[in-house]
Amino acid sequence: MIFGCAKKASAIIACFLISFSFSLCYSQETGEPSSQEIIKEYREVLEVSEDPAEIAEAHYNVGYALEQLGRKTEATAEYLKIIVNYPQMDGPCKKAEKRLAGLYTGFREKSKELIGKREEIDRAKDPAIFFAYIKSLYESHRNSGRYDRAMHVLERLYDMDSENPSYLIDMGEIYLDGYNDADKAIFHFRKAIEAAPDNTKAYVDLGRAYEKKGDYGMAVKVYAKAAEISPASPWTIYGLRRIDGIRLSGEKRLIKDWYFAGPFDNFEREGLGTVFPPEEKIELDRTYSGKDGVPVRWVRSFDYDSSGYVDLNMLFKPNDYAVAYALTYAYSPGESELQFRFGSEDGIKIWVNEKEVFAYDATRSAELDDDVVTVKLKKGWNKILVKTTDTWGAWGFYFRVTDLKGAPVEDLIFDPTRDDQRRKFIYRKMLRQRRFKITKIATIYTIALSVFLLGLYFMISNIRDRIKITRMKEDFISSVSHELKTPIAAVKMLAETLKRGKVKGPVRVGQYHDMIIRESDRLTRFISKILDFAKIEKGGKIFYFEKEDMRNLAKSAVNIYRDETQDKDLKINFSAESDELFAEIDKDAILQVIINLMDNAYKYSDKEKEITVNVRNAGKNVCIDVADKGRGIAKGDIEKIFDKFYRADRDMVERIKGSGLGLAFVKSVIDGHGGRIAVESEVDKGTKFVISLPVKKA
Ligand code: ADP
Repeated sequence: MIFGCAKKASAIIACFLISFSFSLCYSQETGEPSSQEIIKEYREVLEVSEDPAEIAEAHYNVGYALEQLGRKTEATAEYLKIIVNYPQMDGPCKKAEKRLAGLYTGFREKSKELIGKREEIDRAKDPAIFFAYIKSLYESHRNSGRYDRAMHVLERLYDMDSENPSYLIDMGEIYLDGYNDADKAIFHFRKAIEAAPDNTKAYVDLGRAYEKKGDYGMAVKVYAKAAEISPASPWTIYGLRRIDGIRLSGEKRLIKDWYFAGPFDNFEREGLGTVFPPEEKIELDRTYSGKDGVPVRWVRSFDYDSSGYVDLNMLFKPNDYAVAYALTYAYSPGESELQFRFGSEDGIKIWVNEKEVFAYDATRSAELDDDVVTVKLKKGWNKILVKTTDTWGAWGFYFRVTDLKGAPVEDLIFDPTRDDQRRKFIYRKMLRQRRFKITKIATIYTIALSVFLLGLYFMISNIRDRIKITRMKEDFISSVSHELKTPIAAVKMLAETLKRGKVKGPVRVGQYHDMIIRESDRLTRFISKILDFAKIEKGGKIFYFEKEDMRNLAKSAVNIYRDETQDKDLKINFSAESDELFAEIDKDAILQVIINLMDNAYKYSDKEKEITVNVRNAGKNVCIDVADKGRGIAKGDIEKIFDKFYRADRDMVERIKGSGLGLAFVKSVIDGHGGRIAVESEVDKGTKFVISLPVKKA
């Protein structure tokens, strides 16, 4: 693009031709040494001299003479030779720059004027020389950190050729890399993009400027835009690599913890190779000596590239000379086989614990995982040394560590000696993990033990229950056989006495017959009690509901029980509401329930045998209370007495016969009626059972 401005270049040349003829005439008239003589004289000096001061001075004088002859372009070349080749000669450099500044002020206008006059031009020679020199002037300023001067040259170039966006890009780069002014850089790159929307380099530079600002989202967008415009451009590839880098460094997967050798006071770097890899212990800021006393100083990296790229340009100031050795230590909790994944623009050599594990010494683009090498780290501290190039000027490298499958390795500690905070953080993390492991194991053991103990508890209580049930069943069998045997024996004995004719008189015989009938009834009721219970248990008991006045039913139960008991010591009280109290019930079942309760009241009363049956209205329910003044039930037993086979007191069980089924039967029947049964009892004072059944309106 620089060479595309032939028109303007021709103007320069035309200008030069006119001035040349003018100055030639002038010098002939005065008789002083002519400019041409001066030029000749100093060119001779230039041929023989080796003294930089003399050479610079000669260039200046030749340039000045050429200027007098109007040969501006050639004069420019002479001035630029001083600036480019002898930047250390401050005086001549300044003088030359001053001449250059004078030469190109108002240059543009002059060119236009000349072009208007259609002067003869030499297209082939001068523009190329001029622009090449101007460009190298700018680069020399820039590379040696003289940003103001570089900017001055660029502005002049931009004045001459404002349609060329490359000057804007160059200016932006100086703002970005020289002045660290991301905003001004963004302004210039955006302006360049406006002028040339297809310029991928401008996009990539813009992305870099956003990265400097810390706006990674925008940076990624801009890089992606470059890829959209020109997917195969090397600048795009650079941008895509930055995207990868931003992502990986966002996930903290790139190692950025290095320190570097340098900078040096002189450029004598030969022999440095002999001191690398360096000795085991590195002290930062201490100067080590290489071969021939070349000083080596390890510096801590003070600035990381935002996308994780170890950027040596950012690390060392321009004009500092350094050897691009980078060192880090890694702590590995165990022996491990890992992968180093890296990319470098300058070739790379790697040592792990003094052993070379990788060497590739050619320049290429620094893709993220350009190279992958499998390495073994020993348990504890490992030294990782990277050499990117022989001298400063290397761009840098990416470096990350993964397991063999490419997953990041979390438990390595890098650069422990300097990064105490991180070391402590990872140590704490490892400690936590270890503690967690221990807690986990402890928890598992505790749970296992608890499960085992719980199982044991259930097993034991199961066995205990089984023993209890077995005992209750045994008690049941002995009770049942007693209940069966007693009436049968009585019936047998009464019948035999009658048969032998030992009972005299019809009254006595009648009494005997009554006794036989009573005993048979008792037997029948007992058997049907067991059968009924068995039926309820199996779920086969069917209730035949009919509406019944509960006062009558309770009264019948009382009468049946009184007849049956024939015990003069037993006192039975009956009371009921005056009004009818209907409920929908299975008559036989409820009759049996009341008789069971009365029988218990009788059985479990010792001295004072008194049963009170009361039928009363309780709102939506009709209640039948069966109360006694007997031995009562202990609190702990109350909730168990409705369980089948349960009998409260073992001592009592020996004396008072029973099956342990009576109350279980009562509860089943009441449940089957949608009613409730409650118990109030006090030991040695008495017990009251309360049956509640839903009222059925008359
Ligand atoms: P059992 O055939 O033993 O009487 P139940 O199921 O009828 O069986 O009663 C269970 C237990 O409840 C009895 O063994 C007794 O300990 C207790 N019990 C029941 N009714 C009374 C009561 N009125 N007074 C004291 N204890 C009672």
